[in-house]
Amino acid sequence: MQYRQLGKTSLQVSVLGFGASPLGDEFGAIDPRDGQRAVDAAIDHGITYFDVAPYYGRTLAETRLGTFLKGKRHQIILATKAGRYDRHLPDGFDFSAEGITRSVEGSLRRLQTDVIDVFQAHDVEFGKREVILHETLPALHRLKEQGKIRYTGITGYPLGFLKSMAEASDVDVVLSYCHYTLLDTTLDAVLRPLARARGIGLINASPLHMGMLTQAGAPPWHPAPRAVQKKTRSAAQWCADRGVDLAALALQFALDYEHAATTLVGMRRPEEVIRNVQAVGTPPDSGLLAAVRTILRPVLDRSWPSGLPENNQGA
Ligand code: NAD
Repeated sequence: MQYRQLGKTSLQVSVLGFGASPLGDEFGAIDPRDGQRAVDAAIDHGITYFDVAPYYGRTLAETRLGTFLKGKRHQIILATKAGRYDRHLPDGFDFSAEGITRSVEGSLRRLQTDVIDVFQAHDVEFGKREVILHETLPALHRLKEQGKIRYTGITGYPLGFLKSMAEASDVDVVLSYCHYTLLDTTLDAVLRPLARARGIGLINASPLHMGMLTQAGAPPWHPAPRAVQKKTRSAAQWCADRGVDLAALALQFALDYEHAATTLVGMRRPEEVIRNVQAVGTPPDSGLLAAVRTILRPVLDRSWPSGLPENNQGA
């Protein structure tokens, strides 16, 4: 394993992070014994960063992760979130200060811990700008002062909105997803300069584009435009015809990006953990990379709207 500094926090994090959304059955039902073995394998292979949220499996992922980490909590850095609890507006979200403060208590209980290392407002583009700035973020800072959490963060999809929220506040960490992958590298232009200037820890989630950059392909709920999905299937077929593992190439590509402190991959089986750990320190083959990027070129850097329309301006 390799480790990088998480912005100006005191944390060194494994470059490959454990994304726990599959533990909430987000990519199909898992056998909990596989989930336990995946967590054990991750820790055995030096993965120290674990990311979860109450939203994943509507608390199932946190509950399972809390159980799977029994006796091992001290070996890892634990990140969770608050503010998003379901898929749809308005009921699935609560970015009020009271809601955030209540949420951390549930997370502490389910995760069977006294402190959350990184606590993030989840998918902030679904909240109103004023609420995020004047309720959500102050609530996170109060929790930090109280010692219930160690560091604060925001997560979401539209990079322009994340950037403007980070500029207007003093969060420790910003997480975006599907924005540094074989299909989209816009994280680098939009967030890296600010992260560097402010010492914000940059977290790159979903390097497999939420399962799309795998032979199995995208889950049915995937929001990527149809043209992007179609081109990606062509790339997957091109790889399959040559015995190339598209997921491995995609992960090598993302891990090679040194400006993200950690890259979060969703993992539900120990075999996936072991395969993904092998990508650490293995740069992508340049010929293969060029060929796959050529197939994907017509659909590169195409995003989709997420959250409130006003939070997608210029994203
Ligand atoms: P991902 O791109 O990591 O893809 C996960 C899917 O790929 C799962 O189905 C997994 O089983 C499969 N997979 C993993 N390794 C594989 C391999 N070697 N070969 C083939 N398939 C493989 O997408 P993700 O899980 O959505 O993202 C990773 C993590 O990032 C999440 O679990 C979550 O913790 C975090 N995340 C956060 C946000 C947010 O805060 N808004 C959004 C997205 C993701």
